[in-house]
Amino acid sequence: MKCPACQKVMTEQDFGGVKVDVCKDGCKGIWFDWLELRKLDEKNEGLGNALKEALNYPRVNDENRSRIKCPKCNIPMHTHKYESSKEVNVDECYKCAGFFLDSGELKVIRDAFMSEEECEAYTSKLLAGIPEWQEAQKDLDKQKARADAIRRYTRFLRISYYLKGK
Ligand SMILES: [Zn+2]
Ligand SMILES: [Zn+2]
Repeated sequence: MKCPACQKVMTEQDFGGVKVDVCKDGCKGIWFDWLELRKLDEKNEGLGNALKEALNYPRVNDENRSRIKCPKCNIPMHTHKYESSKEVNVDECYKCAGFFLDSGELKVIRDAFMSEEECEAYTSKLLAGIPEWQEAQKDLDKQKARADAIRRYTRFLRISYYLKGK
């Protein structure tokens, strides 16, 4: 699969039981496939070495980067901003629910999500701030699936997910 940001071929890696694609030879961005994330349950798989390595990638914040396309669906992805001490943009595909993080963003997000409350607040903010999403998703079941999807990945990104069960 090609990196949606820099078009280099991405490398599949194992992040504590979840397969992700990392742009090792290029921008160090990380692609999370929703089908992979769905395999996650509450069991703690531990912090994989690949994830540790990714957390050390330098932070890149290219405000001028043009909108990227989903490498799977080839449609424009939507950018969510998460504001903490530093700003993080999460690019997400509404069709396949995959998402892309620029180098270093994973660490910022993980550092930011330390509590269940913060995670919920983030989820609500994402859902509330997406007019196109609300427009496109009229039926309730889809909205609930959507909320569950975001909850799952925010939980996955939180450092406490990996510390649980140690
Ligand atoms: Zn790249
Ligand atoms: Zn997609």
